[in-house]
Amino acid sequence: MRAATAHHTTEEPMDNRQVTTGTPCRIQRRRTKGWRAPADAVYVGRGTKWGNPCTQIRTPALDGTEWERESRLGKTSGQHHGYRHPDGHTTSHLILDATPEQAVAMYRQWIAQRPSLAAAAREHLAGRDLMCWCPPPQPGQPDHCHAAVLLEIANPPAAPAEESTVGPRCGNNPNVTLTDGDRQAVEDFKAYLARRRAGGPPERDPFNTEPTR
Ligand SMILES: [Zn+2]
Repeated sequence: MRAATAHHTTEEPMDNRQVTTGTPCRIQRRRTKGWRAPADAVYVGRGTKWGNPCTQIRTPALDGTEWERESRLGKTSGQHHGYRHPDGHTTSHLILDATPEQAVAMYRQWIAQRPSLAAAAREHLAGRDLMCWCPPPQPGQPDHCHAAVLLEIANPPAAPAEESTVGPRCGNNPNVTLTDGDRQAVEDFKAYLARRRAGGPPERDPFNTEPTR
């Protein structure tokens, strides 16, 4: 994952409003007096549909693995809670507030199960800077903020390079190995263009396969 802030530059013009340029990035929203959100940045924290609802874990997970998302609301971090299974037996789990890493890992899974929300992110958040309260990552470290996941979803990488470099079979495409026949056709066409430039008598375009009338 790219460091969301690494490619980003900001300037502070006279009115103290940050101007953002280049790759969309994740911005820390601040309550500092005088701080104003950059133009066009979108707040994606709690209270919006983009907020991360994955805030707590239970450990162990119901299947016995280390931990999983606790989706029951109103639990208190540090307390044990019983989970009543469909077959009637109950297991005890420690509820903990998720670490930033866990919260982002859970969000990645959560939004992957919600394709319509991911589609909405591509539609509404593409090219926009995203704001959350999380502190920015240290240089070179991953951004443990769900907004980094939203940035990835909203700005998918361009189509793989090989698709655009294969291209058509033509003499100008370095990725195509021409046959002798191809080369002859290219030479014929160059000669035709040269004769036309020289202003010779009109002749039929050899590459026009329409029957002459
Ligand atoms: Zn965040």
